Amino acid sequence: MSDLLPDGWEMIIGLECHVELATVTKLFCSCANRFGDEPNTNTCPVCLALPGSLPVLNEQSVELAIRLGSALNCDVRPSIFHRKNYFYPDMPKDYQTSQYDQPINLGGHLEVASGKTIGITRAHLEEDTGKSNHIGGTGRIAGASHSLVDYNRAGVPLLEIVSEPDIRTAEEARQYISELRSIILAVEASDAKMEEGSMRVDANVSVHEIGTPWGTRCEVKNLNSLRSLGRAIEYEARRQVDVLRSGGKIRQETRHWDENKGTTGTLRIKEEAEDYRYFPEPDLVPIVPSAQWLARVKAAQPMLPAERRSRLAAACGAAHTSSSVAIVVDRALDELVLASIAAGGDATRCLTHAEHNLAVDGAALLAPRALAELTVLETSGSVTATQAKQILAELVEGGGQGDPAAIAKSHGFEAMDNSVLDAAVDAAIAANPKQWAEYLDGNDKVAGFFVGQVMRSTGGKADGKAVTAALNIRKG
Ligand code: ADP
Ligand code: MG
Ligand code: ZN
Repeated sequence: MSDLLPDGWEMIIGLECHVELATVTKLFCSCANRFGDEPNTNTCPVCLALPGSLPVLNEQSVELAIRLGSALNCDVRPSIFHRKNYFYPDMPKDYQTSQYDQPINLGGHLEVASGKTIGITRAHLEEDTGKSNHIGGTGRIAGASHSLVDYNRAGVPLLEIVSEPDIRTAEEARQYISELRSIILAVEASDAKMEEGSMRVDANVSVHEIGTPWGTRCEVKNLNSLRSLGRAIEYEARRQVDVLRSGGKIRQETRHWDENKGTTGTLRIKEEAEDYRYFPEPDLVPIVPSAQWLARVKAAQPMLPAERRSRLAAACGAAHTSSSVAIVVDRALDELVLASIAAGGDATRCLTHAEHNLAVDGAALLAPRALAELTVLETSGSVTATQAKQILAELVEGGGQGDPAAIAKSHGFEAMDNSVLDAAVDAAIAANPKQWAEYLDGNDKVAGFFVGQVMRSTGGKADGKAVTAALNIRKG
């Protein structure tokens, strides 16, 4: 545990994540579900809640909910909608049509890159609210002169994914959200952009002394980046520890993260379920997906990130929790590495190049054969690691289809004859007696100086490792 909390204290975190489903139209009407349009142009009597209008459920939103639920290992079940009653100016119906005790997806889990499994309590369908814009002041309601409401977002389908309180650090919370995001993108359920609000995260945080019962949680809202998520959790956990250690009590409340101040503040005292007067939505029938529908969604499921990490790790002889493996899958270069290995490339070198030298545009166009050939040039000692990096950059720049051996030749990168290397090392020693004495005296840092000298005299063709070895031999 870091020194963030005092010894013996622990934080407990559960995350609620809302994602806007990537449907063509809204959840209960045929208005466009589109971000960034002129305010109040995507509205109709249903999403404006005009009297007498009736909802009709969007089939595509159910399809996406099932896709995501299946990908999160949930039990996909028959479900119904409830009305969740509360007043807010950006919610024209004065209730939100949501799912309550019979959600479509129940009880799943996901595995984050470190290998830890986080439980998913449920992932239910509901509609989004409109958006209030507070004019004047800082953009928050306090200090504003007036407010405008945009109902384009009202009725956009959301899936709310609630995690079990299985998360223990801010880093784990970030890992969970990035994994969830990768899964959402893989099944194409949403564009999941935190900065545009199509993926919104609330963090429930409590603290306790290990061995004592869990503390009361607070829910922190307004987290619109992974960075804010981590900062807010750490701030909130420390705040709660301070309150408790000075004899105070934590009351269950909803708090707002202030990005500029780096603090959380009370927004409202937590509502209880009773306050919402939930009751079944009488205007909608139950959703009962057929077995065929569920089977079709399962069969079409793409390979998910955790499985891709396992597959790549196995091919490279790495641990499935290896950070190199996670980075390469995250960059979507795993197919390239696998194909390069299949084409005879050195597995470890292919993985290393993908991790360190291919975070560039055009990397995905690199021919697996070319990467494979390059690593063979390295293992056979024909080119050094530094030269390989240069060849790789040129390959990618040239569209990815080039011939590594030809590029090596054009630069005069060839295996340096041992006798030439030895002569260069001897010459460097003879020319620098003072540094050589220091080296013999045990100052290993001078080795770098000699590597530099030999590199210069050989025009960069010497292999740094071979020079170091040659120096070592002469040391006796
Ligand atoms: P609410 O309607 O109050 O938001 P939810 O069931 O939607 O309740 O979400 C509760 C969230 O709080 C879940 O993510 C759960 O994991 C988390 N949680 C529950 N107990 C604790 C606790 N003691 N500390 C931190 N998080 C908790
Ligand atoms: Mg909730
Ligand atoms: Zn509408």
